[in-house]
Amino acid sequence: MTENIGVLGTKSARRSGVERVVNAPLPTVYGKFQAIGYLDHDRGDEQVALVYGDIDSDGVLTRLHSECLTGDAFGSQHCECGDQLAAALRAVVAEGSGIVVYLRGHEGRGIGLLAKLRAMALQAEGLDTVEANLALGLPVDARDYGVAAGILRDLGVSSVRLMSNNPRKRESLVQHGIEVAETVPLLIEPCENNITYLRTKRERLDHVLPHLDAVAHWS
Ligand SMILES: [Zn+2]
Repeated sequence: MTENIGVLGTKSARRSGVERVVNAPLPTVYGKFQAIGYLDHDRGDEQVALVYGDIDSDGVLTRLHSECLTGDAFGSQHCECGDQLAAALRAVVAEGSGIVVYLRGHEGRGIGLLAKLRAMALQAEGLDTVEANLALGLPVDARDYGVAAGILRDLGVSSVRLMSNNPRKRESLVQHGIEVAETVPLLIEPCENNITYLRTKRERLDHVLPHLDAVAHWS
């Protein structure tokens, strides 16, 4: 039986699921994280989890952050992703421990960067975020959280306190075998550029955004 020894350079059985590949210290403006890199063998995506402090197996403060280049890197005000990412990183540092899983392949709720930009162009013409995806013949939300669940399992986590306003994210994580002990709201003060988008997320995608009630109607 020499087939499955797995020596580098020899042919081995095709793998599936996520594999932990690297663990590197990552000092940030928020605090010192461990950046744990994973390879998703099913989709070929490279994924990373930022881990802060010594995490338990239960009730770990956790954010599953969907990749958003325009929001996370460019400070886009079309959405609130960049502020949510920063708030989540600050929250796990304030907590003393926690995890932010940054999910590649989730641009535009899973439709990809160029399609998201097309959808944003349609929104500038008056469609809402749901109508824009549908007008492009694309799903309203194509994100899958199986990879996130696999990463959490690898980190020894069985239950989380999930920083999210999105009930679908909670349901999906539970379906993938991770218990959600609590949902922790991650509410970002809206601005004139994203209030319509946020109202659509509340009204059409069931996001829990009670703080929008306090916002006067702009425009
Ligand atoms: Zn975004």
